[in-house]
Amino acid sequence: MGANIRLQHINKNYKQTHVIKDVSIDISDGEFLTILGPSGAGKTTLLKMIAGFEDPTDGRILVNGNDVSQTPIHKRNIGMLFQNYALFPHMNVYKNVDYPLSVRQMPKNERKEKIGAILKRVRLSEYASRYPRELSGGQQQRVALARALVFDPIILLLDEPMAALDKQLRKQMQLEIKEIHRELGITTISVTHDQEEALTMATKVCIMKDGQIEQVASPVEIYEKPASVFCAKFIGEANVIPCPVVSIDAQGAAKISIHGLVVPAPDQSESYSENDIVNVVIRPEKINLVEESFSGLKFRGVIEQSVYIGDSLKLKVRLQNGHHMKVKVFTTSSLSLNVGDEVLLGVLEEDIVQVKP
Ligand code: ADP
Repeated sequence: MGANIRLQHINKNYKQTHVIKDVSIDISDGEFLTILGPSGAGKTTLLKMIAGFEDPTDGRILVNGNDVSQTPIHKRNIGMLFQNYALFPHMNVYKNVDYPLSVRQMPKNERKEKIGAILKRVRLSEYASRYPRELSGGQQQRVALARALVFDPIILLLDEPMAALDKQLRKQMQLEIKEIHRELGITTISVTHDQEEALTMATKVCIMKDGQIEQVASPVEIYEKPASVFCAKFIGEANVIPCPVVSIDAQGAAKISIHGLVVPAPDQSESYSENDIVNVVIRPEKINLVEESFSGLKFRGVIEQSVYIGDSLKLKVRLQNGHHMKVKVFTTSSLSLNVGDEVLLGVLEEDIVQVKP
C-alpha cells in the first residue's frame, strides 16, 4: 500500500516566530516531491511535522485520509534518511539494517530475507559483516538508505541526505535513489537547497520562501513557467525584466515595452492600468544570435563578457539602452565571438514568460 499525504493549512510557531504560514499541499501516492528553498525557509520544519518530530501549531496532516496528529513517530511507518545518517558504529551493516525490524519484533527468518533483499538492492551484499568505519561515505549512505527502506515504509523522507557527499558521489546517489523510487513507487519527500538535485530527482517540486509555498509544479513547469521572480531566480539563470504597460486597447488588451520593444503582455487574464509594471522572464538559452530577417523580437547590443563553459558560451550583452541580457549560446566550431563584438539578439514571443513580483 502506498500513501497520499495532504497538508491542510499548516502553521507552525516556535515561541513568537511564525515559521510555517498556512501551507497546504497534496502529495499523490508514488510522488517524489522535492521541497526547495533557501536556508531558513521552513523546509526541515515541514518535514519534521510529517515525520512526527514536531507538531503543527495549527492545521492537519492526513495520510491516506487519516489525521496522523495523534500517531506516534514509530507508528507512522515512515523511512527517513538525513544528512547525518548516524549509523550505529558498534553494529555491523547487517545489524544496522536489522535494527528497525528487531524493534518491530519481526520473526528472525523473515528479517533475514528482507535484509538480504535490501542489501542486494543497494549493492552491499558483500559488506554485511563490515562496520560503518570500514565503509566509504557513499557506502555508509547506502546502508542508511537500506535501513530506511527495509521495513517497507509507506513514506520515505529525505533531508539533505547528499549534502555531506562530494559532487560526483552525490550525483551517483541521486540517480540511485531516483531508481529505487521508480522501482518501489514509494511516496517520497525530500528537502534540499540544491536546485539541480531537485530537478534531477523530483516528479514535483515545491519552492518555499519565508514559511510559505511560492510554487508547486513539475520540474519542467517550474523551469519553463516560474510563478514569481523569486522562483525564476532560484531555479536556473534568468533575465528578469520589469516592463511598463504602454497601452491598453478598448478590449482591455495590454501591451508592454521590453527594453523598448512593444509586445502584448503574455498574461492577458489580468486587468492592467497604463504604467503598471509587469515582470517578464527570459531564460538565457532562449536568446539566440540572429540575422536582421529574424521575425521575433530583436535587441542590438555589444558583448561585454564572454565565459566559455565547454558546450556553451555565457555572454553578458549590453543593450543600447544600457541594460544587460544574459545569453547562453551553444558553441560550434564556426562560432567566433569576442568581447566588444556587436550582436543582434533574437527572442520568440512565446519564450517570454510573465511572472508575479
Ligand atoms: P530550512 O530547513 O528551510 O533551512 P528550518 O525549517 O530549519 O528551515 O527553519 C525555519 C525557521 O525556523 C528558521 O528561521 C529557524 O531559525 C527556525 N527554527 C527552526 N527550528 C527551530 C526551533 N527548534 N526553535 C526555534 N526556531 C526554530
